Amino acid sequence: LTDRLSQSIKKIRGQANLTEDNIKDILRDIRVALLEADVALPVVKSFIDDVKQRALGREVLTSVKPAQMMVKVVQEELERVLGKETSGINFNAQPPVVILMAGLQGAGKTTTSGKLAKYLTERQQKKVMMVSADVYRPAAIEQLQTVGEQVGVSVHPSSVIDNPVTIGKSAVDAAKKGFFDVLIVDTAGRLAVDESMMQEIKALQDSLNPTETLFVVDAMTGQDAANTAKAFADVLDLTGVVLTKVDGDARGGAALSVKTITGKPIKFQGVGEKMDALEPFHPDRIASSILGMGDVLSLVEEAERKIDKKKAEKFAKKVQKGNKFTLEDFQEQLLQMQNMGGMSSMLDKLPGMGQLPDAVKDQASDKHTNRMLAVINSMTVKEKRYPQLIKGSRKRRIANGSGTSIQDVSKLLKQYNQMQKMMRKFKGKGMMKMMQKLGG
Ligand code: GDP
Ligand code: MG
Repeated sequence: LTDRLSQSIKKIRGQANLTEDNIKDILRDIRVALLEADVALPVVKSFIDDVKQRALGREVLTSVKPAQMMVKVVQEELERVLGKETSGINFNAQPPVVILMAGLQGAGKTTTSGKLAKYLTERQQKKVMMVSADVYRPAAIEQLQTVGEQVGVSVHPSSVIDNPVTIGKSAVDAAKKGFFDVLIVDTAGRLAVDESMMQEIKALQDSLNPTETLFVVDAMTGQDAANTAKAFADVLDLTGVVLTKVDGDARGGAALSVKTITGKPIKFQGVGEKMDALEPFHPDRIASSILGMGDVLSLVEEAERKIDKKKAEKFAKKVQKGNKFTLEDFQEQLLQMQNMGGMSSMLDKLPGMGQLPDAVKDQASDKHTNRMLAVINSMTVKEKRYPQLIKGSRKRRIANGSGTSIQDVSKLLKQYNQMQKMMRKFKGKGMMKMMQKLGG
């Protein structure tokens, strides 16, 4: 997937604007990427249309390549669709705040009830009660009981001979009397969407009037998640989604489908079987995993924020005119790189860089950059402008002054010479490219 994308990215490298023509290939690849991530087809279509609209005519910053710009557009659109803020449980209601858990059997409703109870108790100091309205399987009621004991939360008793609405109402009464802040109502699910299950949970929603109705959905069900979401959203007034088993799903497609179809925020994600494996939803992470892009976006953002645009332009002009590239310029480059978190952090953020040979990583290590800067700092202005002056005794003085060795000074001069050669080759083509070359 990432390979495919990087190939079409290569094709638009070096172009200054995003046009219908130069983004065609990358759009096709994004489409394939989304389908591979198991995003539902109608969702893929509308997503691609939106990205296209957003990308066309967009100006490309001097400090980034068009390909990175395109990645950024995609990432922004993903985050826009998935929702930026993580919104927790709504407590803007008369206690007890009732949370109704809806979803298919096996989606993780009971487990999530326990996790959420623990989360709200520990992180938000709420007094939480739970109740099981799953009257079809005695084992389900016991399961919630066990979960309640595990997380130290009271579970209102329920019996298989009662009806779910009666159980729900009696739990609300008990929660009121006991001054509970929250009542979590676990419900029965079926293996597939089924009319009587829908009627039953609808009746529960109508009679309990919950503040939150959370649709619990298994991330690993991929495309099916879209159909299930539609069935539940058609019948119930959902207030949010909990995406479970995110730990077992590297693709992330379900998140995009479910969010697009329900239009409701994904509030939490389940990341394991244990009771503490619940987190606020992170749209940015899912967005990255959908496209397998590593952290390209944050790299682009950092480049925007930290590279001084004017300086970079001035520098590019200077190079274009064929002016000399001095050690002062080299120093400037190193400083900018350091501002961006150092070469190694830049490399870490690019997909596929994990496989770089250690020797290359060493070259790019921040320690190495710092040492080079120390050496340059110990030079006089004249030496920086006319590096050819730096010979034997000057080298020794600089090494002593910077706490490095003569070899370090020689190494720096060698790197500077290489850089100078490269500058001639890449005359005026922008500094990102040079920085990359410098890294390996
Ligand atoms: P319910 O039928 O909707 O109540 O589903 P359960 O809560 O009984 O969960 C079904 C299975 O999924 C159980 O084995 C849970 O341990 C497992 N499960 C639930 N949430 C997660 C999760 O976030 N990650 C993983 N790995 N397993 C989960
Ligand atoms: Mg259950």
